Amino acid sequence: MSDGMKVSVLYGVHDVRTETRPVPEPGPDEVLVRVTAVGACGSDVHYYEHGRIGDFVVKQPLVLGHEPSGVVVANGSRARLHEAGQRVALEPGVSCSRCAQCKAGRYNLCPEMRFFGTPPIDGAFCEYVALREDFAHPIPDALSDEAAGLLEPLSVGVWANRKARVAPGSRVLITGAGPIGLVATQTARAFGASEVLVTDVNARRLAVARELGATGTLDVSRESLSESAFEPDVLLECSGVPAVASGAIRKLGRAGRAVLVGMGGDEIPLPLAHVQNSEIEVTGTFRYANIWPTAIALAAGGEVDLDRLVTHRFGLDEVEQALTIASRDDSVIKAVVVPRHG
Ligand SMILES: [Zn+2]
Ligand SMILES: [Zn+2]
Repeated sequence: MSDGMKVSVLYGVHDVRTETRPVPEPGPDEVLVRVTAVGACGSDVHYYEHGRIGDFVVKQPLVLGHEPSGVVVANGSRARLHEAGQRVALEPGVSCSRCAQCKAGRYNLCPEMRFFGTPPIDGAFCEYVALREDFAHPIPDALSDEAAGLLEPLSVGVWANRKARVAPGSRVLITGAGPIGLVATQTARAFGASEVLVTDVNARRLAVARELGATGTLDVSRESLSESAFEPDVLLECSGVPAVASGAIRKLGRAGRAVLVGMGGDEIPLPLAHVQNSEIEVTGTFRYANIWPTAIALAAGGEVDLDRLVTHRFGLDEVEQALTIASRDDSVIKAVVVPRHG
């Protein structure tokens, strides 16, 4: 193996540079993985545009990218789960395995979590990464490299459906038809939801939502949700727009469940009388725990189509384009960085 690798590094707001760094050495429990595809996520864009997300501030050069797939090329001294050549999807956050949250199975809430592309932990917009071996999940041949990377956002969608207890017969409202809304839509149908209404202001995305299983869509730039006759028992809020979240909670029927997935507004107005009188449950989600095997099964079994989400591909020299394309082109659903592109 050559001793240098290409890396795309965020130095600050609107400042991305490609440079050469040493290939990482896998620690004793780690595998070294050659990266084959990495999805570009809204949170990567947010770091690029603002240099921070809430309390996470980019204070030193940071490698973004937390939706990677790859191939195992070497094992650390104690690693034994994978053979070289194994294709894997990388679950991009390594928890401590020791704290109370980890012990309770909620490792997504581990305060010691080291998550790719979140300061100060480098991500996967590069040629090789090292990761604890149990966070590298083998994938079947049925999954493309790009689909394997998008298991990460799919895991967010599956987690949201689990939290909302979506089950056969559920009537689900999904606000926002971005990548998370679209994987949440497909998962809801796979979990047996009989009706899934998806809202957005982008007609192209709504068309994709229908293609991927939404039973109805509403373009809220033309029609208002409040006037729709649909009475959902589950809301998966994927837009991150405070007014949309409030309006959607209002639509929930008695004992409805709202799961807030989208990020954006720090606070939302809560329709308190409705929440109280109808015993609405409102919860957030933070990443996911123990969800990769389910996500792999859904994607490999064809119940969720991840390749359909990929609209744009870029090389490692073009990460800046991958992060800005959505602001220039409304046909973008998901841009993927392919290190050996072109
Ligand atoms: Zn993401
Ligand atoms: Zn922990």
